[in-house]
Amino acid sequence: MPTSTTVRKVNTLAAAVIAVLMLTRVGGRDSPRAEHRSQDPFHDKRIAMVRDQIEARGITDPATITAMRRVPRHEFVPSDRTDEAYQDHPLPIGYGQTISQPYIVGLMTELLQLTRVDRVLEVGSGSGYQAAVLAEIVDSVYTIEIIEDLARTSRARLKHLGYSNIQLRNADGYYGWPDRAPFDAIIVTAAAEHIPPPLISQLKDGGRMVIPVGHPFFVQNLVLVEKHDGSISTRSLIPVRFVPLTRSQ
Ligand code: SAH
Repeated sequence: MPTSTTVRKVNTLAAAVIAVLMLTRVGGRDSPRAEHRSQDPFHDKRIAMVRDQIEARGITDPATITAMRRVPRHEFVPSDRTDEAYQDHPLPIGYGQTISQPYIVGLMTELLQLTRVDRVLEVGSGSGYQAAVLAEIVDSVYTIEIIEDLARTSRARLKHLGYSNIQLRNADGYYGWPDRAPFDAIIVTAAAEHIPPPLISQLKDGGRMVIPVGHPFFVQNLVLVEKHDGSISTRSLIPVRFVPLTRSQ
């Protein structure tokens, strides 16, 4: 029969285990994806990608790192290119468009300084990969794609992967998504010649936007836009090369 000291010890141990379990839940969020990752043959490649391309180049935001370890990038590239999914470059996704290089996805995500309760707008859904990375971190992601076929395939892909916290719309993202505004953060993943004024007005006070600005087909600058007390500050960060932000006629 256990003595009362043994019972007390067991109770203390149980309390400690519960406390540890609770603490580990506070740190991050559960992935919105229901799928089990244990049988993922790309798991090791993905972990190596995050270590060698993301962390080694100075990305430190834990939410960004965890998200990129979780999202199955090979599901977002054409089926004949899955062996290249975790390599250090962009890949074609059809219709003359590309899925961005992993490092650029990591950098842009980190710059948004996201917290779980944020509402994020993406312009340029493409494959849906960047939207999935965002959806691992925040509760609500709104993403806009101008090419109808890409919008349809990416919406189906995100649904299949279980990303129920992403809404994808087929429209010209230059005008943002007024019905869902304002946004804590906005990310534009196509090159704009100027920062679209509708996006500035749909950014919350205290919010952040990252956008490649410059001549389409040439090198652009990745610009961080911040809104404080209604006024805008911009900072050019690094040269980047994105496909152009096109416009509906
Ligand atoms: N974020 C994407 C990659 C972006 S490629 C990913 O993770 O895969 C840029 C995308 O922006 C392309 O799919 C292109 O069709 C789209 N695009 C270009 N102009 C747009 C516009 N005005 N509104 C919405 N999407 C646009």
